[in-house]
Amino acid sequence: MPGYCGAWSAVQEEDGTYTAVPLRCRSWACPRCAPLLRRRLVKALEGVEAHRFITLTCNPARHRAPADAYRTMSLALSHLVKRIRRLHPHARFEYFAVWEATKAGWPHLHMAARGASLPQRWLSGQWRELTGAAVVDIRRVQHADQLATYLAKELAKAPTAPAGMKRFRCSRAFLQGQRLTSWLRPPTGSKWQVVPVDTACQADVWRAQGKVVYVHHDGTVTALDRLRWLPVLDLHPHALSDWAFFLKVAAQYIATHPRAGLSLPELPSDLAEDLLPPPLAA
Ligand SMILES: [Zn+2]
Repeated sequence: MPGYCGAWSAVQEEDGTYTAVPLRCRSWACPRCAPLLRRRLVKALEGVEAHRFITLTCNPARHRAPADAYRTMSLALSHLVKRIRRLHPHARFEYFAVWEATKAGWPHLHMAARGASLPQRWLSGQWRELTGAAVVDIRRVQHADQLATYLAKELAKAPTAPAGMKRFRCSRAFLQGQRLTSWLRPPTGSKWQVVPVDTACQADVWRAQGKVVYVHHDGTVTALDRLRWLPVLDLHPHALSDWAFFLKVAAQYIATHPRAGLSLPELPSDLAEDLLPPPLAA
């Protein structure tokens, strides 16, 4: 996992609610980010229409090394898309392409495409002209839900694109308005600040200030300072992860301080399910 992944946080304060979001590396090579990216991708692809899967290969005899082949194919793909659109100006050709490599490291592209029907012979001829490789495979998509599964499976494999190259490419309209990256970015238009500490450190700072801290399963931390039963939480370091313990201590505190007029807190509705407290034992 890249050392900088999650090392910094974006922090915001709004109406007494403090939020710290980890700044992730968003790399498919990162064991923490890859599963999130994959889940996000599958979600974005749900309901997205594709008509065919196309596999484009390279001709190793034409290149000194796989990295050359990547560059050639990447450029060739842009040309190929232009040619397809020129051939079918009204078909709105859109695509989503994922890199994969053979055991020897030679790249091929798996592409899900929408629009324009493409004769295999024409496509193969174009690709040969652009790259010197003629092996092109076209398959019809049988079920709409095949797409998400197919692409997610490809992306779940070990990353193959060389450093600095994206793992997949996607034409602007392919996702039909869906976005892949919004979950990683703090919402815009609010007063976010970047701090050079991870969210766990930020949570400690807020705990030290007496705030109530919630740690969500994606690493996001929410803190509140308006609840009056705050002192209860500082009794035990496990109180913040062990909700059964927390509620027990809070209930005891409330019972022994009747004049404080306290009640058990309402937990945030978006609290990760695995953090929700089990039912209180009587
Ligand atoms: Zn990461």
